[in-house]
Amino acid sequence: MNILVINAGSSSLKYQLIDMETEGVIAKGLCERIGTAGSVLRHKGKGEEAVISAPMPDHNAAIELVLNALTDKNHGVIQTMGDIGAVGHRVVHSAEDFDRSVLIDDRVLAVCEKNADLAPLHVPANIMGIRACKKVMPRTPMAAVFDTAFHSTMPPRAFLYAIPYEAYTDLKVRRYGFHGTSHMYVARLAAAHLNKPIEALKIVTCHLGNGSSITAVDGGKSVDTSMGFTPLEGVPMGTRSGDIDPAVVEYLAAKTGMTLPETINYLNKKSGVLGVSGVGSDFRDLSAAEKDGNIRAVLALDLFAYRVKKYIGAYAAAMNGLDCVVFTAGVGENDAAMRGRIMSGTDFLGIAFDADANRNFTRGTVFEISQKSSRVKVLIVPTNEELVIARETKSLIG
Ligand code: AMP
Repeated sequence: MNILVINAGSSSLKYQLIDMETEGVIAKGLCERIGTAGSVLRHKGKGEEAVISAPMPDHNAAIELVLNALTDKNHGVIQTMGDIGAVGHRVVHSAEDFDRSVLIDDRVLAVCEKNADLAPLHVPANIMGIRACKKVMPRTPMAAVFDTAFHSTMPPRAFLYAIPYEAYTDLKVRRYGFHGTSHMYVARLAAAHLNKPIEALKIVTCHLGNGSSITAVDGGKSVDTSMGFTPLEGVPMGTRSGDIDPAVVEYLAAKTGMTLPETINYLNKKSGVLGVSGVGSDFRDLSAAEKDGNIRAVLALDLFAYRVKKYIGAYAAAMNGLDCVVFTAGVGENDAAMRGRIMSGTDFLGIAFDADANRNFTRGTVFEISQKSSRVKVLIVPTNEELVIARETKSLIG
C-alpha cells in the first residue's frame, strides 16, 4: 500500500508518497508560493526533478497539481489516485484533545479548528491541506499525526508555567512541546540500537535543526521538553531567541517603538544565531564565518552549544540519571563541530565522548560517538518524521 504524507504550511505544501511494503519514498515534492504569484511545484518522481510552474490560488489547486504529478505519464509513479491507500497529515497542535494520532472525521476537524488559535501560523494551514485532500479524495482514509502528542505524557510540574492557574484552566496556557514525532522516533531507534527496552532507559534527545528542541525521554515517555506554549521557547535556534526574560518584550517595545506583534516577530525571525552573529541562520554559514575569524559567529556558536548543554544537564537532573544522548535533525546529524562543542565538559555526567568517531561519522545511519567504555552512550540518529506519519497512518487504518 502507498501512503501519501502531507505537511501543509500557510504558503507551502510538502509531500512524500511512501510504499509501505518497503517503506521507501517513491515520490516527493514541494509546492511553494501557494496563494501568491509565481507558485511552483518541484516534484521528484520518476527521472529528473520536474519543476512545474502553475497558478496555485489555494491549497485545493496545490493538491490537484500534486495528484496530477503523481499520476503523470512522464514523471508520475502511480496509475490512478486509487493507488493511494491513505493520507497522513502532519498537524502541528493537538492542544489537550488528542494524545495520539487519529483518523480524521468531521469531529476531529472541528476540534482542530477549535484549537487553531494556539498555533495560528500552522494549524489553519494544516486544516486547509486536509480539506483540500478530502475534496479530491473523499473516500480515502486520512489520519492526523500531531507534533504535540508525544509530549502529552509530561507531568503538570513540567508543563505548567508558574503563573496563575486560571491561565491554564481558562486559557490553555501551558507547555505543549513540538517535534514530538521526531523525538519519539529517534528515542525508539536509540533503544533498538542499544539493544535495551526503552522502558529501562533515560534518554535526552536533541533535535537540532533550523528549529531546535530538547526532550527528556524517561522509559519511552516524554517527561519534559524545551519548546513551550509555542516553538519560540527553549534553546536558541536559527532565527528564534529561545528562552528569554518576558520583561525584555515590553522593554524592547518601549525603546524601539515596535508593537507587541512586531516584537514577537523580532524574537521569532531576527534573533537566535542569526541575531547574535549577524551572519545568518544556517550553521554552515556560521562555521564558514568562524573559519574567517568572525568573532560574532564564534559567539553565536558558543552560545548555542552552551544552552543546549544546559538543557542536557537539566534533563539528566530531572530524570535522576542519563543513559543516552541523541543528536538528530540538520545540525545534530551533520555538524560534527557543533556536537563536539556541546559535548565538551560533559564527562561529569558519565559521558566519554569519542572525538574521532564524531569527526569521522557515517551519515544516514545510527552512529555511536561515545567511547566503548562510556557509561552514557552518545548517538547520532537520523530522524524521519514523514516515515513516522506514514507508519501511524498505516496502523490506524489497520
Ligand atoms: P532541519 O531544520 O532539520 O532541516 O535543519 C536545517 C539546518 O541544518 C540548516 O539550516 C543548517 O543550519 C543545518 N545543516 C544542514 N546540513 C548541515 C551541515 N552539513 N553542516 C552543518 N549544518 C548543517
